Amino acid sequence: MTKRPLIGITAFETKHLRPPHAPLYATGQRYVRAIEDAGGLPVILSPALTNETLRAVFERLDGLLLSGGGDIDPAIYGEEPHPSIWGLDMNRDRAELAMAKWAADAQTPLLCICRGTQVLNVALGGSLVQDIASMVPDALTHMYDEEVMPREAVAHPVKVETDSLLASLIQDKSAEVNSWHHQSIKRVADDLKVVALSPDGIVEAIELPGHPFALGVQWHPEWLYHQQPEMARLFAGLVEAASTDK
Ligand code: MN
Repeated sequence: MTKRPLIGITAFETKHLRPPHAPLYATGQRYVRAIEDAGGLPVILSPALTNETLRAVFERLDGLLLSGGGDIDPAIYGEEPHPSIWGLDMNRDRAELAMAKWAADAQTPLLCICRGTQVLNVALGGSLVQDIASMVPDALTHMYDEEVMPREAVAHPVKVETDSLLASLIQDKSAEVNSWHHQSIKRVADDLKVVALSPDGIVEAIELPGHPFALGVQWHPEWLYHQQPEMARLFAGLVEAASTDK
């Protein structure tokens, strides 16, 4: 096996826990497990580094996973906040938007999940639907109560663009996915291409043509890959792309 690539996984800050647990940087355990299971070396990235330190860390990475989480500050794409906006984190926005742009420019392999997909779109100049349920007529349910819908459960299908990186990984024209997002892509950034849609027309995946591996999915493959081999291939694809000498 070639040298295992170092994959940075973005994290967020938790502020309101009692000592000795506060404050923390945290990320979903499933992201870390998925990268390790795919053969990568996962490292969790603090969202609160200075830009200079962040850049130095970024340059050591072979690949990047932008993880899920709260909403991006709508002011960044020039909108007033909708009442449903939650989880704003200025440092996280700054760090992830910078790294998404760097990864796009430096051709660093990049897998974006849920919020990460929205970050990539906003970083490259796109905007977001701030709340699907109240702003998109006749939309399917894309955000569920955890009590009624396990994270591994399929929520809706997506139609996959045939001529795409995503199709080459999924090896099919459609996929069954989970859904844990109340926002989605509105204006697609000029350089990005939509490569999957749900039946109600919500953008479910994007990629950056001309880049060796820059893919964003609106669903959560880290909760699906144990039972859906095509979802394991998203992580394997990232690790493989990150293993290639630049
Ligand atoms: Mn969805």
